[in-house]
Amino acid sequence: MLFDPLARAPDLRRLAETEARFEGRIILATDRLAALVEERPADVWVRLAFDQGPRQRPRVRGEVAAEVTCLCQRCHEPFRYLLQGTWELVFAASDEEARILGEEGVDSCHETGPLDVAAMIEDELMLALPMAPRHEPACASLMQADTAPHPFAALKGLFARDGRDK
Ligand SMILES: [Zn+2]
Repeated sequence: MLFDPLARAPDLRRLAETEARFEGRIILATDRLAALVEERPADVWVRLAFDQGPRQRPRVRGEVAAEVTCLCQRCHEPFRYLLQGTWELVFAASDEEARILGEEGVDSCHETGPLDVAAMIEDELMLALPMAPRHEPACASLMQADTAPHPFAALKGLFARDGRDK
């Protein structure tokens, strides 16, 4: 069954029983994420699939991707950053069951009521945010100034020789 992830409070058991799924772009009110980035995503691509997980508990498998603007922590210039995440979560019937599932290596949380899908998606985007976002592999503005040999260039040569000796 296709479902609308932004519809009000879908019932978890029903989502699982009908194997509800969604794939597409949505506009999210990403206020918590917005506080951590320079510019929030215009929209968010998401793929969600519900089914019955272990112990017949509702399970969701999700993928999310969105482009935000971050401030580079090295050169302090803003740049576009692609946030991407995947997750799998089982909704346990109690804290105790969530603990047991955790011991079995299953990500789970105690949640039986209606599910806030938008909040779940925003959580995953926030988890995908790097601690110190920066241009990779290097900042363009700093590279121009960096014409002197890198101080570790000689070391790199040493390591390469070690590799050949083995
Ligand atoms: Zn930079």
